[in-house]
Amino acid sequence: MATHESTLIEKFLFRIAKQWIAGDTMEEALRSARDANKRGMDAIINKLGEHMVSKDQVSDTVSEYLTLVSNLRRAKISGGISVKPTQAGLSKSLEYCAENLEKIIEKASASQSFVWIDMESSEYTDETIKIYLELFERYERLGIAVQANLKRTEQDLKMLLEHGAKVRLVKGAYRESKKTAYKTRHEVDENYKKLVKTLFSDGNEFAIATHDSRMIELATSLSKNHEKKFEFQMLKGIRDELKPLLIKGGFAISEYIPYGTNWLPYSIRRLKERKRNILLLGSSFLHSHRV
Ligand SMILES: Cc1cc2nc3c(=O)[nH]c(=O)nc-3n(C[C@H](O)[C@H](O)[C@H](O)COP(=O)(O)OP(=O)(O)OC[C@H]3O[C@@H](n4cnc5c(N)ncnc54)[C@H](O)[C@@H]3O)c2cc1C
Repeated sequence: MATHESTLIEKFLFRIAKQWIAGDTMEEALRSARDANKRGMDAIINKLGEHMVSKDQVSDTVSEYLTLVSNLRRAKISGGISVKPTQAGLSKSLEYCAENLEKIIEKASASQSFVWIDMESSEYTDETIKIYLELFERYERLGIAVQANLKRTEQDLKMLLEHGAKVRLVKGAYRESKKTAYKTRHEVDENYKKLVKTLFSDGNEFAIATHDSRMIELATSLSKNHEKKFEFQMLKGIRDELKPLLIKGGFAISEYIPYGTNWLPYSIRRLKERKRNILLLGSSFLHSHRV
């Protein structure tokens, strides 16, 4: 009975999650990426999964990214990929992760694809930045995410920009302690705004990755007085009504497209980000029980 119920709940969750993920397979991810290109956006594909501890798992994921990068080129898809450091083995060691990431980035560079390094929870921030800076000396089509909810990010961003880094600014998706992170929405938003201003004054080739209209308006308004190369990045299935409007306004957008069977943790993060999503989940669950 318990197993039957959990399978049922998983099925309902999947119905909701489907809007945010391309599907289980690489083919479905490539199809979504082609669709994003047709709608005027670049695609950033991510294979779902994180905190990989077994070397077999890491090596399978690295192989998958290598194939993905070749397929992106073959399918003439405009965009790139985004990799989580723990998918490349950061839970094992910095050296092992850097070695694996370099394999992916080397191949991506040859295919003219851009690689983003996602930022995970704060226990990995130092090592992720270290690996990024080391690889960025050799590969220029490489970017790193930084999180506005972390108190350290203001300093990290200044340092990264001094190195000419390509930065994606996000609010931050991981649960953090009061010591390391801003905890209220207001504090995170205020820090996000401050960091957007830093990007427009001191950065170039950066990404404003948010669905928050107030942050997007701040960036569009700053762009009028600062000639910077930047793009907006949004997740697949979120703010789909806004994406064509920004494109029409002349702004570049990339859509982040996750795929794979490990969709649950990603989808739970998306659900938590918006109360209305929880309501949607509830009403869909009730509705399906009516029939
Ligand atoms: C391209 C991209 C890459 C990312 N990479 C990372 C990363 O490397 N590391 C990391 O920690 N985080 C990453 N994130 C996630 C990010 O940190 C936030 O958790 C996420 O973007 C939600 O924050 P927000 O800026 O959209 O603002 P929020 O304050 O969460 O949302 C603002 C508004 O956007 C809309 N909205 C937001 N979420 C949803 C939703 N799920 N469904 C419907 N509407 C919604 C609502 O109108 C909401 O009021 C990434 C996000 C994007 C877009």
